[in-house]
Amino acid sequence: MYETLALYIDGEFIDGGGRKTDEITNPATLDVLGQLPHATTADLDRALAAAARAFESWRHSSPMQRSEILRKVGQLSRERAQEIGRNMTLDQGKPLAESVGEIMSCADHADWHAEECRRIYGRVILPRSPEVRQMVLREPIGVCAAFTPWNFPYNQAIRKVCAAIGAGCTIILKGPEDSPSAVMAIARMFHDAGLPPGVLNVVWGVPSEVSDYLIRSPIVRKVSFTGSVPVGKHLASLAGAHMKRVTMELGGHSPVLVFDDADVDRAAKQLARFKVRNAGQVCVSPTRFYIHEKIYDQFLEGFVNTLKTVKVGDGLDPDTQMGPLAHERRVPTMQKFVENAVQLGGKVVLGGEALDRKGHFFSPTVVTDLPENSMLMTEEPFGPIAPLTRFSDTDDVIKKANSLPFGLSSYVFTNSLQTATKASNGIESGMVNINHFGSALPETPFGGVKDSGIGSEGGTETFDGYLVTKFVTHV
Ligand code: NAD
Repeated sequence: MYETLALYIDGEFIDGGGRKTDEITNPATLDVLGQLPHATTADLDRALAAAARAFESWRHSSPMQRSEILRKVGQLSRERAQEIGRNMTLDQGKPLAESVGEIMSCADHADWHAEECRRIYGRVILPRSPEVRQMVLREPIGVCAAFTPWNFPYNQAIRKVCAAIGAGCTIILKGPEDSPSAVMAIARMFHDAGLPPGVLNVVWGVPSEVSDYLIRSPIVRKVSFTGSVPVGKHLASLAGAHMKRVTMELGGHSPVLVFDDADVDRAAKQLARFKVRNAGQVCVSPTRFYIHEKIYDQFLEGFVNTLKTVKVGDGLDPDTQMGPLAHERRVPTMQKFVENAVQLGGKVVLGGEALDRKGHFFSPTVVTDLPENSMLMTEEPFGPIAPLTRFSDTDDVIKKANSLPFGLSSYVFTNSLQTATKASNGIESGMVNINHFGSALPETPFGGVKDSGIGSEGGTETFDGYLVTKFVTHV
């Protein structure tokens, strides 16, 4: 049984009623899984009114009450992980172990927000005269509108929902129409955990129409988006025109720097496995590989050999290590990247093709000898394709790492403390991972710089985007 798809407005699950629907399909088998109802304008108005009404009481709720609900959601996530994970594999395609892992790690996100929301503090500032008192209060910003993508449908949504609700805000969430079951599961968990009606609302529809309608509404005070850079820029400019706060978690093009003093075989193996996680559809996926010329051949051999062993298949098959791409449109996009690489003299040393089988499968692909201006070296492939190039000079490779407008994540492999320090100081990105992959934990901030976004999710920063500062003084 697949998840029952519905809108969730003012504490009610709503479907049918002659609403337009989208067909949801399994990207591995092309089977139809269900019908997703689109919100009408009246539904959006109802969600806005419910979120505005609920804010009037939720803003005054005690942090203990918020914390209790978030903890309950953490507990329900653990209890329901297998069932939610199976549905996510059905509509998104990733291997079941990755789906279940995503939900279990999000249970920790709920717990983290449950703890941190009890620690939203203001401060007292010493006055110039003794009879004056000066205080800084931090208050919830208001009704939030959030838009989350299809690659980590559970993770991207629950982080925004926990941060908004923990801060005392209410939220209208539009999840990914391609893989909606995880967001439905989130709505059911908050409902079952006793969240008052209207604090969380879930809507579906044509993304640009829903976002335009919600962002223009005077009821919405904050916009949070995870997705591509062009869409993020569009939504941020719309929010700016209406003077609304934004959190933008956008795409990247993560550079990987492997130095000649690194543990090369280990780096090659780990990076190959990390590259095919979620079929490369990860905003922090290792993307441009700069390998020191002295160890280039050794790295290439280890990297390709590991990718050759990756079992590609239906995510429900327990042996599968890489599933299909999440939807049909991603396959021609991958082909375009490979065609452009070949035209510019690149060598495809592994894969390079869609798999000749039912479903949106593309093989793990390695391309070498590419110029810096090729599509693969400059645009986010968001798939299982890795371009490898050589470098010899540390300053030069750091310059190359910073040469694109993105700045989300980066990866450095070296056994020299000096090189690690130089690289982590020099690389312009929101996250630098040295000799391992350590981003996206609940207790650590996640976010990009430059075109990769505005603001952080997680860490002690997690509520910053959902709070406003008020100064109060009295005599
Ligand atoms: P896309 O840019 O059309 O959509 C990306 C996401 O944004 C989808 O979830 C979509 O529903 C949403 N979206 C698109 N237009 C919107 C709008 N006007 N208002 C609100 N939401 C909107 O591209 P796509 O084919 O779905 O995905 C491909 C690209 O998206 C990738 O190349 C990657 O750069 C980016 N992406 C990034 C992330 C991330 O985690 N940063 C996640 C998914 C996709």
